[in-house]
Amino acid sequence: MKILVLNCGSSSIKFQLIETDAEMIESDSDRTIARGGIERIGTNEATLKVVVPPNPARSTTEEILSYQAALNRAVEALKECSAVADISQIEAVGHRVVHGGEHFAASVVIDGKVEEDIQKCAELAPLHNPHNLRGYYVARKLLPQVPQVAVFDTAFHQSVPPRAHIYGLPYSYYRRYHIRRYGFHGTSHRYVALRYRKIFGKAREDVNLITAHLGNGCSITAIQKGQSIDTSMGFTPQEGLVMGTRCGDIDPAALFYIMSKDELTLHDMATLLNKFCGLYGISGESNDMRDLLAASARGGEQARLAIEVFCYRIKKYIGAYSAALGHVDGLVFTGGIGENAPAVRALACEGLGEWGIQIDAARNAAMTGKEGEISSDGSRVRVMVIPTNEELLIARDTFRAVQKGIRDRG
Ligand code: ADP
Repeated sequence: MKILVLNCGSSSIKFQLIETDAEMIESDSDRTIARGGIERIGTNEATLKVVVPPNPARSTTEEILSYQAALNRAVEALKECSAVADISQIEAVGHRVVHGGEHFAASVVIDGKVEEDIQKCAELAPLHNPHNLRGYYVARKLLPQVPQVAVFDTAFHQSVPPRAHIYGLPYSYYRRYHIRRYGFHGTSHRYVALRYRKIFGKAREDVNLITAHLGNGCSITAIQKGQSIDTSMGFTPQEGLVMGTRCGDIDPAALFYIMSKDELTLHDMATLLNKFCGLYGISGESNDMRDLLAASARGGEQARLAIEVFCYRIKKYIGAYSAALGHVDGLVFTGGIGENAPAVRALACEGLGEWGIQIDAARNAAMTGKEGEISSDGSRVRVMVIPTNEELLIARDTFRAVQKGIRDRG
């Protein structure tokens, strides 16, 4: 089945065309036919990029004024690159949807009720869900006969038990406003856990994992027998690890203090927390780990401090989740930083030998942008680098949800 995977943002659409079916899933031979993206939608300088491996990327800058025009253009570009001969070859669409609240613990074919529930969750993710939904509307218009599936970032974490998802607030806030830990990056954590089990030929029940997704946003998850039992992001993607521009865990009273000292509004504070904290805030120069590693190597004190704080927070969570799991089989690093920054992985795991986590320096240094083990032979916990592939899991979920829908209808 050829599936169009869409990740729709406020002025961008990322897309992949993936071919998958039951046999391809089983043998890990699903095929990414094409990938691409359109940015700056709504302007006369929108950029369109399409890659059909192994050919080089094709990029153009053109006027794309609406979201509908952008999706139409993306599909046209897939035809121009011979990724599809005709639009009718696209048999399903899989959408990344950021927030599924407590409504969704799995991926679903979108119908009227699902649409309504995604809309309800928009209040919890105002920067994401409305755009994800808009992607659904334009895809429905372009491909009216084709089933569309929603795959939620939060769904994997719906198994987190109340002791880990209820905050120490008056319980009425949970009842009235659904304030609780939801967790995000679920598709990525689920993918690398699946991949870990595949590599070692293990069943879900036999593996406990800690998975660290370190990209611009960062989160870490404890996975027991295939189920997320705790995760660092919370009610929003602000909680937990230090990130590119977000501070992660903080004493909430410090925020009131800053607001009162600097006379900030709620809006000012939200902007500060989203855009000016984390690696960027501490270093004062960049949210990009590559820049900070280079600056630190040149003797930059603030860059070094930012990296230290970033890695120490990861280490603390590894300890916390080791306690939550009781026994850990594997630790997985993924995301742009997790996959490509040996120095970060080394510092985050430094001194964890007593916890059964030992990294082999040479293996670690050699493992950038590819899958493999970085723990030493004597390490009780296997430490792995596994590049994430959320789009692949979205395509597989879409295939399965469509098949299930067909079966359910008899
Ligand atoms: P997003 O969360 O937006 O998907 P990514 O997963 O692509 O982001 O991760 C972006 C982060 O990965 C940036 O901080 C970037 O510096 C970091 N990164 C990418 N390549 C490297 C590298 N070679 N070394 C260190 N960090 C890297």
